[in-house]
Amino acid sequence: MSYSIPAEKISEIKHSADILEIISDAVVLKKAGRNFLGLCPFHSEKTPSFTVSQDKQMFYCFGCGEGGNVFTFVMKQEGIAFPEAVRFLAKRYGVVIVDHTSSPALKNQINERDILFQINRQAMEFFHHTLLDPQTGTSALSYLTRRGMPPRILTDFKLGYAQPGWNQLTNYFSGKSVALALVEKAGLISRRQSGSGYYDRFRDRIIFPIFNTHQQVAGFGGRVLDDSSPKYLNSPETSLYSKSRSLYGLFQAKPFCRQTGEVFIAEGYMDLLSLHLHGIQNSVATLGTAMTEEHIRLLKGVCQKITLVYDSDQAGIKAAQRCIELFRAYHQPEDIRILVLPEGHDPDTYLQQFGLEAFKNAANEASGVFSFLMDVAIKKHGLSLEGKLRVIHEMEGPLSTLTDGLTRIAAIKEIAEKTGIDESAIQEKLRENSPSRPLRAKPAEKAPDAGNKFEKHLIAMMLQFPEIIPVLIEKNLIEFISDPLLKSTGSDILACYRDLDNAPEQINDLPSIVLMAANNDEKKRLVAAFSIQKEEWGLEGCRKLIEQIERNQKRDNLRLLRQRMKTAEESGEQELLQQLTKECLDGQVSAGGR
Ligand SMILES: [Zn+2]
Repeated sequence: MSYSIPAEKISEIKHSADILEIISDAVVLKKAGRNFLGLCPFHSEKTPSFTVSQDKQMFYCFGCGEGGNVFTFVMKQEGIAFPEAVRFLAKRYGVVIVDHTSSPALKNQINERDILFQINRQAMEFFHHTLLDPQTGTSALSYLTRRGMPPRILTDFKLGYAQPGWNQLTNYFSGKSVALALVEKAGLISRRQSGSGYYDRFRDRIIFPIFNTHQQVAGFGGRVLDDSSPKYLNSPETSLYSKSRSLYGLFQAKPFCRQTGEVFIAEGYMDLLSLHLHGIQNSVATLGTAMTEEHIRLLKGVCQKITLVYDSDQAGIKAAQRCIELFRAYHQPEDIRILVLPEGHDPDTYLQQFGLEAFKNAANEASGVFSFLMDVAIKKHGLSLEGKLRVIHEMEGPLSTLTDGLTRIAAIKEIAEKTGIDESAIQEKLRENSPSRPLRAKPAEKAPDAGNKFEKHLIAMMLQFPEIIPVLIEKNLIEFISDPLLKSTGSDILACYRDLDNAPEQINDLPSIVLMAANNDEKKRLVAAFSIQKEEWGLEGCRKLIEQIERNQKRDNLRLLRQRMKTAEESGEQELLQQLTKECLDGQVSAGGR
């Protein structure tokens, strides 16, 4: 591995970082025996199969097969490469990395990310001061005051103001001798079409800094003070910001979502701030984009129940249809509800007029995506016989996304109740209209599927009960494993085990050492799975397993020998036949020989 970060630093980080702490940031985990269990952030599931072992500092999902150590998790969760994951954890655990060995290109790439975050933070401070300064911020401040935003919200969310004019921010950064090309990369300024120089992206707009979940400023949103358009302008997609991966307010909302087990998703910045203002702090907003798979993934880590808040039927319908699309692509429906506020109300006016309790009650009664669409269909088609048939027809699509049998039965029951048509008749109608629609396959693999049962057991035993390894070395069992992946993993374990000679006290660390040494993802997943799998290894059980494996290998060898003897006999090769017969007799005494 040529990671240019000194190996002892990687090992220091590995020992300081706690996988439970890191994963708990993104997944709600509950103790289950020796391990911790949660809903997998990498695939959709209703029953937790995402397993974290604190002893072994590993995770493995028995639903989708994703697994690894703390570095693997951070890489996957943050969408970053190994060196960045190392630095991410180093920073978090206060490990100082001074490296003289990095390639300049790599160093630049990593430093640049840090610098862009710093630039964003400075821009945020600049915009914030501009807003609070009576010389520059009066118009924006009075707009926000008119919208009912008290000073508390302005500081909590670090709201700002970008003045009119083309060079305020550009001048600010060039005055501080920051390379403008980097400010452009942060998405804050643009290069002039003609001539040289840059101009500000955000002009005469209220500025909403967008934090990532690590409280870094990833990007900005800007809203005009009047009716000009575009009403909202966001940062362009940069290496730090992607709208499909960002939720406004998530950083601030996270602890409240965890506390309540629920999150509200509003449509825009101002709606979100209104919800906070009125005491609904477990709320976030999408940023001018429909819900994405990534959004659901981000939220799943903090709570189970998601309520989308809309101010019109039309917006609600669009969102519900989008959810159905997500369900179709993303396996199982999550617990998502749609709350449409009464006509003419947005969250702010609603909460002002009816208060917090009324909002909470309405939220409690909000329909799930499926019921919501059904109510919309009934409203549209009415409940005449013709109307009912249309409703059923319209629900076919959404129904087909329900792969879980029980959920499907409940949904059909609901249609039956609401339309007064018999359940079996609806079933019949659905069957005739959708000729053998195949149910989508579940996520691919579960536990790694390589090799036979005994060979898998053998590798798991080596990882979980390394005391037995000397016996395996003596009997030379690894060499005769038939599955290539298992065999190569076995050899890796042996190699790592032999390296332990210098520090035999590290034997309990063996699984994690093997995982670090594994040279491909498939192997990493296999090591994580086998290390975490629940087994009770005792010396006696191990001996029995070894005996069984020896017997199997002997049997396979004998079968092979007999085959060759038969061929030799048929072709009349007497000498070979004699030799094979001898081997065969020896083979009855010891396993493994061929
Ligand atoms: Zn999974």
